[in-house]
Amino acid sequence: MAIKYKCPNCQKLWIEQTRCSCGTLVDIKPLEVDEAGNIVLTSGRNGYDRYLDFQYSRSGHFMQALFTAIMKADTENQDKLAMGFPEEVEAYRCWTRIGVEEFARRCGNKHSALFGTFCDEYGLEGLSNG
Ligand SMILES: [Zn+2]
Repeated sequence: MAIKYKCPNCQKLWIEQTRCSCGTLVDIKPLEVDEAGNIVLTSGRNGYDRYLDFQYSRSGHFMQALFTAIMKADTENQDKLAMGFPEEVEAYRCWTRIGVEEFARRCGNKHSALFGTFCDEYGLEGLSNG
């Protein structure tokens, strides 16, 4: 498995978390890719699915409070929240700094009705149902 970190600003690839030559902090966990360069998808619900729930007001009280805190936090406090909830912080950063298409790739549960609704809304054809 190769792992590359992609700069959300200029798309340059790095082999470790770093500050990109364009000045952007490259701190979102990369996707794993196989030798052919295809993305290896995680299975099962993950923090990205939980952030999608939050976007569509389906979260329970705790996740609602957590994502609200992540949104309100500055970078330093976000990094602290990421120590306990790394996927949730990454999902928020991916949504806000990389984009919905990349976000959709990282969702673990691509068979839910909510994921289908999300893909329809953002015109992400071919991403639902695997
Ligand atoms: Zn860059």
